Amino acid sequence: MNEILSINNVSKRYGHVKALNNVSLQINKGEIYGILGPNGSGKTTTLGIILGALNPDMGSYSWNGNRPTKFDRKKIGSLLETPNFYPYLSARQNLSIACKIKGVSENEVDRVLTKLDLLYRADSKFKTFSLGMKQRLAIASALLGNPETLVLDEPSNGLDPQGIADIRNVILDLANQGKTIIMASHILDEVEKICTHVAILKLGNLLTYGPIESVLNNQAKVVVSSENIVLLERVLAQIDGVSHVRKNGDKLSLILATGKDGAYLNKALFEEGIVVSEISIQKSDLESNFLELIK
Ligand code: ADP
Ligand code: MG
Repeated sequence: MNEILSINNVSKRYGHVKALNNVSLQINKGEIYGILGPNGSGKTTTLGIILGALNPDMGSYSWNGNRPTKFDRKKIGSLLETPNFYPYLSARQNLSIACKIKGVSENEVDRVLTKLDLLYRADSKFKTFSLGMKQRLAIASALLGNPETLVLDEPSNGLDPQGIADIRNVILDLANQGKTIIMASHILDEVEKICTHVAILKLGNLLTYGPIESVLNNQAKVVVSSENIVLLERVLAQIDGVSHVRKNGDKLSLILATGKDGAYLNKALFEEGIVVSEISIQKSDLESNFLELIK
């Protein structure tokens, strides 16, 4: 069997706040599983429980079919909440300490620093790092010992677009090596770009889960282009049934409400004096479904 993690009917309260309500989820080897939901939906609580940092009130979970007490947590690389390093020690010293705690070879330090493009700052104090570098160091630390499974809580939290893209590439690279990655995020775009599977949480309830494609609904995603893209964008905003207009290179993508089709859009644009140079209907879109679900 390919199953890596099984979460079974897990519930967790903090006082009167129900953080997780009877959540069950199965994750298989090689999947890049996004736990997606708005702030406060229970993502960190879920990861805290499966990492053994929190106890569930009810329910259970198992890694590789083993009871959590029997599973070696050192085999799971994790990034949970804000990275915790010694500010006055260098990146290399911080990772050396992490190696000792995890019982892995010190040779790992340079390997993971190289992987996260931090070798050139290996001897700088942690406190001198930018937020993006701190986050990369935290991921580097999670990679010590080359674990087969990674659990990452909001890996691109607080980063700028370049930082987000860097982290995305690191995660995709790990995915290509066949690692299993469980990643919490409140950013749909991040999950959509990285994950093979997604579970959507809202107020502690698991709304839906499965392969990214099957969580999609049937609203059409349309890509459209025209000579004057600025005008196109302005006109699209006025057309009934058009939403989520986004720049996509030299084209615009949008969501077309159920029941409207390409011919409808083409006609509506033509009536506003716009000649479309390309219009293509793509498969449905996660965003509209996500927004609908968490509404
Ligand atoms: P997410 O990671 O999706 O933002 P969390 O799992 O952190 O959500 O939190 C889920 C809910 O539990 C929220 O309502 C949050 O305020 C509450 N919560 C989380 N941790 C604690 C805590 N230590 N004490 C009290 N409430 C908490
Ligand atoms: Mg969180």
